[in-house]
Amino acid sequence: MRLSRFHLATVKEIPADAEIASHQLMVRSGMIRKLAAGIYTWSPLGLRVLSRVERVVREEMNRAGAVELLMPSVQPRELWEETGRWEKFGGQLLKIRDRKEAEYCYGPTHEEVITDFARQELKSYKQLPVTFYQIQTKFRDEIRPRFGVMRAREFLMKDAYSFHLDAEGLAAEYRNMYDAYTRIFSRLGLDFRAVQADTGAIGGNASHEFQVLADSGEDQIAFSDASDYAANVEMAEAVAPADPRPAPSENLERVATPTQRSIEDVAAFLGLAPQACLKTMLVRGSEGLVALCVRGDHELNDVKVAKLPELPGVMELADETAILAATGAPPGFIGPVGLPESIPVIVDRSAAAMADFVCGGNQDGSHWRGANWDRDARLTRVADLRKVVEGDASPDGNGHLHVARGIEVGHVFQLGARYAEAMHATVLDDSGKARVMQMGCYGIGVSRIVAAAIEQNHDEAGIIWPEPMAPWQVAICPINPKHDAKVTAAAEALHAELQSQGLEVLLDDRGLRPGPMFADIELIGIPHRIVISERGLAAGTFEYRRRGESENRTLDRAELLRVFR
Ligand code: ATP
Ligand code: MG
Repeated sequence: MRLSRFHLATVKEIPADAEIASHQLMVRSGMIRKLAAGIYTWSPLGLRVLSRVERVVREEMNRAGAVELLMPSVQPRELWEETGRWEKFGGQLLKIRDRKEAEYCYGPTHEEVITDFARQELKSYKQLPVTFYQIQTKFRDEIRPRFGVMRAREFLMKDAYSFHLDAEGLAAEYRNMYDAYTRIFSRLGLDFRAVQADTGAIGGNASHEFQVLADSGEDQIAFSDASDYAANVEMAEAVAPADPRPAPSENLERVATPTQRSIEDVAAFLGLAPQACLKTMLVRGSEGLVALCVRGDHELNDVKVAKLPELPGVMELADETAILAATGAPPGFIGPVGLPESIPVIVDRSAAAMADFVCGGNQDGSHWRGANWDRDARLTRVADLRKVVEGDASPDGNGHLHVARGIEVGHVFQLGARYAEAMHATVLDDSGKARVMQMGCYGIGVSRIVAAAIEQNHDEAGIIWPEPMAPWQVAICPINPKHDAKVTAAAEALHAELQSQGLEVLLDDRGLRPGPMFADIELIGIPHRIVISERGLAAGTFEYRRRGESENRTLDRAELLRVFR
């Protein structure tokens, strides 16, 4: 490829809304241009990278035995009514009307469409198992589109769906897809972890997310330093402390804390560590309020809390009026000592192991010191309520947890019968009986991968592509070609030779000065750079540099060609 015939449009300015490195670099290198919030054009440069990712995904899906199809992006409301998701999907669903006032959505995902396809196409167990996939544009009206294509509204997804006669068949294909995902992210050169994920409202079976490790990631993941345990923090179990609760040694005493509402303020005021204080929150239960207690240095985990049987399926904090009415105290002064009997007190495992703690006094401007469970405070039951933190014991009993940030690039999920049941997708089994199919779904954020890879691979000068994603593998940079026909001829010859070896080669024939030329080639992250100069030619050598390294190597022709073998 001759760069003069391409459209490369690097820019100096960093757009104000680009908070993270990948977004900045994708704009600076000219890979993407914004059309509207969360909606981007992929420039020719960006598309080259996106296509590379797509190719790896497609190759591995095919290798795993999945078959490609292409479903429409515009989907009729009636289908979504069948599963109840027309309402339940919420604000992310972009709803549209046609000229006859018929309603549609722009597909955020394709469970409904594929299940409709499957119920018409699949009639017999003999057609199972089968896994369909597509690579297609999705639209989700995200509340906060940000980070460029990382959390976009329009984005490219690979979505696959498998169909099975029974749960064993589904479990086997799940493993197969899990392995294919591992191959995909390994081939793309990403540092990732497969983590156990929450199965959410859909409930039931197994789910794993594939998370690329990066500080800018929106997810938090926990993994053991001594085993392969890894889970999304939403889901990671916080185990009970090894040591039993000490016996009470202090008397219960009311202390004035006139303006101290937060744990930090109360602890500082009393000269104690936050661990010595109990945090109590009142939330809306299915019948009246529910009190939740965690240690002062711990945080409630919304996902775990929402699953408590006492709650209506979501965690919602009680408002100030309800708290005052129930306890007589404003928020910030609530605790389990003397709390009305009608309010169940659910206590986190670590909080249940506390003795002689500080907690809210259920009175404006006061706390208790020296409080103890059972003796002073009612404890309805103990549950896992909190987010794990760095250093917690791993729930599998091996080692301790690290907590890191991750970018979710893939998600595999055993859906079970949920969609097939709602949409009556059945096949006949070998005894001629109709059976609801078991389903799995498997998503990859193809466009998000591009941004995630940059988060992991960049320096001050720009992107450092993992080789399989690079728009070109090699850049040839002739110095002063306009003044020296020999340099041009040598660059052309090398370009042709490397291309004939099957390499993707970029010849920078724009005639720029070396500084700006090198800056562009580094910014767009080409893994190998070859500089051809008059002096080098006279000596029979080329200047070679691997992107990410700081030294040039002077190589003769044979040595240079060996780099690419
Ligand atoms: P997230 O929690 O990041 O919103 P999700 O759980 O909603 O993701 P899935 O429904 O599992 O995502 O979609 C499959 C994949 O599509 C995700 O793993 C992610 O890589 C990608 N993806 C989801 N939402 C977006 C988005 N707004 N922009 C870019 N990629 C996305
Ligand atoms: Mg989402």
